[in-house]
Amino acid sequence: MPVDVLSLATPGVRGLTPYIPGKPVEELERELGITNAIKLASNENPLGPSLKALAAVQQCLQDIARYPDGGGFALKRALAARYNVAPEQITLGNGSSDVIEFAARIFVAPGDEVVFSQHAFAMYPILTQAIGGRAVEVPARDWGHDLEAMAKAVTTRTKLVFITNPNNPTGTWFGRTELNRFLKQIPSQVIVVLDEAYFEYVDHPEYPDGLTLLNSHPNLVVARTFSKVFGLAGLRVGYSISSAPLADLLNRVRPPFNVNSLAMNAAVAALGDEEHLRKTVAINHDGMRQLTNGFRELALPYIPSVGNFVCVEVGEAARVNDALLRQGVIVRPVANYGMPHHLRVTVGLPEENVRFLGALKTVLTG
Ligand code: PMP
Repeated sequence: MPVDVLSLATPGVRGLTPYIPGKPVEELERELGITNAIKLASNENPLGPSLKALAAVQQCLQDIARYPDGGGFALKRALAARYNVAPEQITLGNGSSDVIEFAARIFVAPGDEVVFSQHAFAMYPILTQAIGGRAVEVPARDWGHDLEAMAKAVTTRTKLVFITNPNNPTGTWFGRTELNRFLKQIPSQVIVVLDEAYFEYVDHPEYPDGLTLLNSHPNLVVARTFSKVFGLAGLRVGYSISSAPLADLLNRVRPPFNVNSLAMNAAVAALGDEEHLRKTVAINHDGMRQLTNGFRELALPYIPSVGNFVCVEVGEAARVNDALLRQGVIVRPVANYGMPHHLRVTVGLPEENVRFLGALKTVLTG
């Protein structure tokens, strides 16, 4: 009698729909028989990695027969120096999604509530459901987090709150005053994960640096990544910074050697390449203007974004997305985020932005 393995899974996992990643360039090229597809779908760095990070990878290649440093000494030391925190406050992850998952697994038992915003990063509902938690999705305000309503949604059953600044996929952000007010309202026994995956792109005096709030909020976990501005998405390395006791808990569930040696070495080198960081932010700034000017010319509404991506309203987004794919342009449909009329576009190199806008114009105007 064959076993129905589905029935063996926990109820949460049985009903799960997996995270939908951006379509790989190679896959589309194979399907269309073309060689010049462009991908503006996963908020990657269009400049690629820092050359210093590449050199660091080269340098440690001959050591890959050995396990990496499980304690991540060098990377923790570099992060601690840069952000003026103690290494004991840091948890390293195989991407920041790894650390985000640790937080959910540590604090949320079946039936516990997890609060997050509508249109927030797709991993929050997926993780919550996988561990049997109860998702409390708070309606967004102007596409962004309604922190006031989110604080009100916290009950005695709430164990965890996810907030994202800026948010993916909407690119919306909240200011220092709003965040301070929110954190004061959250009971200290509720863990707050502040996801700052796109932190380095934001240049606004009111944009808060979550790390400055750690001393006053021992229940706060700030998650960041090397996948975006640092251009290391393929290596998978991210981290969180929190109070040391919280980091101790996060490290208890961390699988051994969860971050590989190439990734850790590249991350240390990337942290030291200020020029690459500056160039990345500058090219993103210009590319964002290029894209939004293009949207205005096409009379398409868009959600103002401070990230390296922007959501544009195109009507029947699934159809527009298919037509863009046929032109070799990969962007991200966001219907799974409750946004069936938008497409999310990652800011690319100037020529990629031109190609995308041209393709979009062709698709929309025939
Ligand atoms: N948080 C947010 C808001 C994101 O957009 C992403 C990547 N899409 C992540 C976390 C996870 O990134 P990574 O695991 O590559 O660090």
